[in-house]
Parts: sequence; C-alpha cells; structure tokens
Amino acid sequence: MRFSPPPHPETWLRPLPRGLYVEPGGFFIDPHGGADRAVITHGHGDHARPGHGHVLATKETLAIMRARLGEGSGAVQQAAAYGERIEVNGVGVTLLPAGHVLGSAQVLLEWRGSRAVVSGDYKRRPDPTCPPFEPVACDVFVTEATFGLPVFRHPSDAGEIARLLHSVALFPERTHVVGVYALGKCQRLIALLRAAGWDRPVWMHGALTAMCDLYRSFGIELGELRPLPQASKAELAGGIVLGPPGAIADRWSRRLPDPVVALASGWMRVKQRAKSRGVELPMVISDHADWDELTDTLGDVAAPEVWVTHGREEALVHHATLRGIRARALSMVGFEDEGGNEDAPGEAGPGEPAERSGRLS
Ligand SMILES: [Zn+2]
Repeated sequence: MRFSPPPHPETWLRPLPRGLYVEPGGFFIDPHGGADRAVITHGHGDHARPGHGHVLATKETLAIMRARLGEGSGAVQQAAAYGERIEVNGVGVTLLPAGHVLGSAQVLLEWRGSRAVVSGDYKRRPDPTCPPFEPVACDVFVTEATFGLPVFRHPSDAGEIARLLHSVALFPERTHVVGVYALGKCQRLIALLRAAGWDRPVWMHGALTAMCDLYRSFGIELGELRPLPQASKAELAGGIVLGPPGAIADRWSRRLPDPVVALASGWMRVKQRAKSRGVELPMVISDHADWDELTDTLGDVAAPEVWVTHGREEALVHHATLRGIRARALSMVGFEDEGGNEDAPGEAGPGEPAERSGRLS
C-alpha cells in the first residue's frame, strides 16, 4: 500500500470572496450573500448573515440568529454541541468554545488526516457569560487580528469596572451611561458589575433587552435589569444605565441628570476615538484577543502555519514569521472591527439592525 501524506489545508480550504469555503464538504464558514450550506461561528452580524439554506452552529448561536434575523436565519438549522464531531460530506466538523460571546465557536475541520481550525472571533481572558477558548493542535490555524498590534494590550476587566464604580462613588448625583454592544459586551459588563458587588438594578435602553432575555434563557445570571423609562430621578442619581454605543451621546442620554458618558470597547485604548465620541470615561473592555492573547494563542495551538483573516494582519504575520511559523494574510473583506463602524453617525456596532435603523427608545 502506498502512503499518501495528508493534503495541505490550502488544497481544500479556500478563501473565496464570499468567505472561507471547505471544498470537499461543500460548505462555507461565516459567508455572506446566502450560501447553500454554512457553518456559523457566532451571532454577531458580520459573521451570522441572513439567507443561508442549511446552517450548522451551536444551539445558542442558532437562537441568537433566530432572534435577530427571523426568517432569514436559515431554512434548515442544525445544532452541534461543543466537542461533538459531525461529518459533512466526509469532512469532520467539531465546534469548540471561542470565549468571544454566548455560543461562539471555533471550527475544527478534519479531512484525510489534515486539520485546520477556523477560530472566528475569540478572546482568552475569562468571561462569566461563556466558556473559555479551547486551544487545539492543528496544521493551519486561522485567526482574526482585530487588535493585532503590540500597542493593543487590554487592561484587566476588573480594573476597568473598578474605575467605573469609583466614578459612581465620586459623583453620586450623576448618572453613568455606559455604551455597550447588544450581543456579548452588554451581558459581560453586567456580569462583571455583579461580580464587583454592584447589586442595585441596572437600567436598560430598550435595544438591549432582547439579548439579555436570551442570555438568561440559557442560564446566565444578570441580576435585576429594569427599563429606563421606569426610573425616577432619584433612582437615576448615582445609577448605572446601559445603552447601545450609538445612543450614549445623543438626545436619549441628554435627558438623564448630568450624565457621565462611558463606553466599553477595545478601541477606547485610542484616546482620539473616545474624544470624538464625547466619551468622558473610556473603558477598555474587549471581546477580542489583544496582542498578547493573539501571540500566546499561536504558541498554544502549535500550528506550523497561520492564516490571518482580517484586522491588523501585517504585524501578526511578521511576528509569526519571526517565530518560524509560516504565515499569510487572507485580507478577507466584510468583517467589522469591534465597533469598527462606530465612527459612522447613528451606527452602533457590527450588525446591530435595531440600533442602526434609528428605532432607539
Ligand atoms: Zn464577533
């Protein structure tokens, strides 16, 4: 019998304009434009797009897609548990925790002894609202690089929450309004507040409640959340209000008593971004890996080759090459930075249809 070596992933995993295509399996990962068959890594709008025929994802991601996309969430939906291997036309597909948002997954692909991992969006620090990223060995590791520059080193979450609570203590007459993305950041921020001992109600903008309800339906504890219109003036003094990033500096927040405007985003590291958005209290809390998390992960997965899908690709490719890892930038389009479109007026974050449409309440 003749030995044939496993085929290199570049012969069967192809970056096409619509997304990464697994040729022998006949499916895309996070495609746009509507595909016959799609594997979806997580529910953010730049990854979970409408109009696919068959969708494979975690049950949490499928629930998020149904809540956000309705009829467009996929004609046929197939749920996979973390770690469950599913054969798709001879390709082994296993979803593994990515630590990004509820339901987020890396996709391990196995074909004829060759292994590739498409990580989607991920982070490595603990998040009380989703299971941690699980590194697995592979021949090719496909990674994002949203914060792929050495200047991006996110501080500790607990420290950023402590800064918020310190400001609340310092200005007991003012309302703190914190901008958060509806999926992931919002629930993580609430959970971090609870862990820091904040047991008062958290006041909510209407655009954030549906995802909080969905998280709770999967057993994530968020404590008491109340709709903002129910708040009295006395309750708002020294209170914490959460709203979508697009709302924190507009008419909606100006109704609040002497608001302190905060925003939780990895981009708050860039002072100019905070300033241009009228943010008084920038909080550097990100659901994406920072430079150290990205480079540590390359070591953890021990792949001899890495492909960088989007973000600041050049620096990570250069770093990998210096470590003797073969690296290439895929320069895939259609993925937003975390809040990458936040400079556009009225836009709140990646794929937040309710927030983009101006139906703010
Ligand atoms: Zn994402």
